[in-house]
Amino acid sequence: MRARKRFGQHFLEPAWVAKVVDAIDPAPDDTFLEIGPGRGALTAALGPRVRRVIAVEIDRDLAAALPARVPPNVRLVQGDVLEVDLDALLRDEPVPVRVAGNLPYNVSSPILFRLLEAADEGRRIRDAVLMLQKEVADRLVAAPATEGYGALAIQVQLVADVDRLLVLPPGAFRPAPKVTSALVRLRFRAASTEVGDRAAFTRLVRGLFLRRRKTLLNALRPLVEPSGRSAKHVLERAGLTPSRRPETLTVDETARLARELCYSFPRKSLSPPNF
Ligand code: SAM
Repeated sequence: MRARKRFGQHFLEPAWVAKVVDAIDPAPDDTFLEIGPGRGALTAALGPRVRRVIAVEIDRDLAAALPARVPPNVRLVQGDVLEVDLDALLRDEPVPVRVAGNLPYNVSSPILFRLLEAADEGRRIRDAVLMLQKEVADRLVAAPATEGYGALAIQVQLVADVDRLLVLPPGAFRPAPKVTSALVRLRFRAASTEVGDRAAFTRLVRGLFLRRRKTLLNALRPLVEPSGRSAKHVLERAGLTPSRRPETLTVDETARLARELCYSFPRKSLSPPNF
């Protein structure tokens, strides 16, 4: 069966399977949700070492071929991991579960955001060990004022500790992708700081980082001034220097700014037009 590009199919070569599964560090009582089992390279190695694997595969042909390749404690679900009802899927499983996946790179960001939501601060998903494009992995662990630091780092680091576990060359997969890959672990936990309204925080962070090299003042203006708030005043109250660049803001500082917007303008932040 040929690899389907539209599903981001790059299958892990056998020489790398043990290294990746060891890095996942499975335990006999663990229940895993595996994203995109493909031909079952990871699934077949993971299954015997854990309580159960629930594997969600979008490709009907691959999903149909999988039962013959994996142990009986693997439950296969044919579907899109961005659409499946995770509540229903995990209803009878002991939580928190763990997640593993060699992700389709074309949809890795939406999958990451879905996991951040679904993790429920580690109560429903304890951790996720994910194969990503190395560039995306670097963005997840980036520190303020470094290349790659941005909205993704802030949103992920707010609710997870992230470690890079392995770097894999293109030849670790077939067909080989054009990029280098990296395996990362996200350990979900309660948010490191309060951000007020979570959706407004996301809009603020994304909006600021669209203008990451402008001054904070100029980056904030289009986000708050249409609803009658002064960006200068908001920054003053949040204790942030207007001449700084958004790319230098730590998670805590971004949260401070979000709280200021959320709590000092409660009426406006109920239905914020641009924030
Ligand atoms: N786990 C296998 C391996 O390591 O060899 C396959 C990894 S391959 C990079 C990504 C897999 O995710 C493919 O099997 C692909 O069909 C599947 N996939 C792509 N998009 C998906 C989605 N939205 N939901 C579930 N599976 C998806």
